[in-house]
Amino acid sequence: MKIAVLPGDGIGPEIVAQAVKVMNVLKSEGMKIETEEALLGGCAVEAAKDPFPEATQKLVKAADAVLLGAVGGPQWDTNPRELRPERGLLRIRKDLGLFANLRPAILYPELVSASTLKPEVVAGLDILIVRELTGDIYFGQPRGIEIRNGERYGFNTMHYSESEIRRILHVAFGAARKRNRKVCSVDKMNVLECTQLWHDVADEVAKEYPDVQLTHMLVDNAAMQLVKNPKQFDVMVTGNMFGDILSDEASMLTGSIGMLPSASLDQNNKGLYEPSHGSAPDIAGKDLANPLATILSAAMMLRYTFADEANASRIENAVRKVLQQGIRTGDIYEAGMKKVSCTAMGDAVVAMM
Ligand code: NAD
Repeated sequence: MKIAVLPGDGIGPEIVAQAVKVMNVLKSEGMKIETEEALLGGCAVEAAKDPFPEATQKLVKAADAVLLGAVGGPQWDTNPRELRPERGLLRIRKDLGLFANLRPAILYPELVSASTLKPEVVAGLDILIVRELTGDIYFGQPRGIEIRNGERYGFNTMHYSESEIRRILHVAFGAARKRNRKVCSVDKMNVLECTQLWHDVADEVAKEYPDVQLTHMLVDNAAMQLVKNPKQFDVMVTGNMFGDILSDEASMLTGSIGMLPSASLDQNNKGLYEPSHGSAPDIAGKDLANPLATILSAAMMLRYTFADEANASRIENAVRKVLQQGIRTGDIYEAGMKKVSCTAMGDAVVAMM
């Protein structure tokens, strides 16, 4: 298992170090894991004047999987677009052909009070949002702002090919088979032809998965249902723009951004794994960050790239038990619990494994 490790900026190095510690447990038990670090984001702009330098490009191409912390920080916000940390993130996703973004929204029973929703609505929530990541209106041409009839005119183009839709649906159905065998495909077929095609292709792909139940939902209703009765969903699959919005909505149902992992996969299950949150410059360098989203991202890496369900579950169970013991970083702390540092949280997970 060749893993490229990209700590990035802000809290990135602190949280990634904890996930590497967890992987080292497996290594010490005989698993063949090779890790190598490289620069991405603001740190790479400083060192190489490029947010995704050549050495990093080579390393991630040769690796089976990439573990990423987070990139960005206020000191780079005024840089020219090409020299912004986030540009490195877009380029790595494009370079590796990562078309499938998987974001679980899980609410651990111990953290139910972190959610703004009533406990009975969210307790035990476990949804997986599968978002198409390389197509749709975000990449469509033509696009722009120009003068037409004497006024400014903005335009974008929503488009999907049949094959692009088909491949992301296969990811969703495959993931559902490892869960509760329910897929909800989200579209806006009553208004947008492009998503009518999405709807039709979903029906066709579903025939190959008779053991998985497919339902369809319009995106406006899906946004409502996510806050009304989120536990009705197992896997939700949708396009790039709807997925961008719904995955953030779903993650906020849990109220704890420091807990949520993500995976972005290519055709062959090579993946980039990273927490859903950013580089948290406000707490960087203080050993305060919650490393659990990054540790859970490593668990996703074992599940999706290395097909090692046993060790993926083992890490997830260790995290669950640490929470059951009342061990908390500051972001998820409540009175009566034991507040620990980022490093101590990593140590607690390792000890539990
Ligand atoms: P953020 O997610 O970094 O932080 C939002 C809030 O959540 C902050 O108060 C932060 O302290 C807290 N937080 C986030 N992760 C935490 C953790 N693991 N433990 C404890 N608290 C945590 O979002 P932001 O402040 O909007 O962005 C900061 C920087 O991160 C920006 O430069 C942004 O561009 C970048 N960013 C990067 C990514 C990525 O690398 N994928 C994603 C989002 C934002």
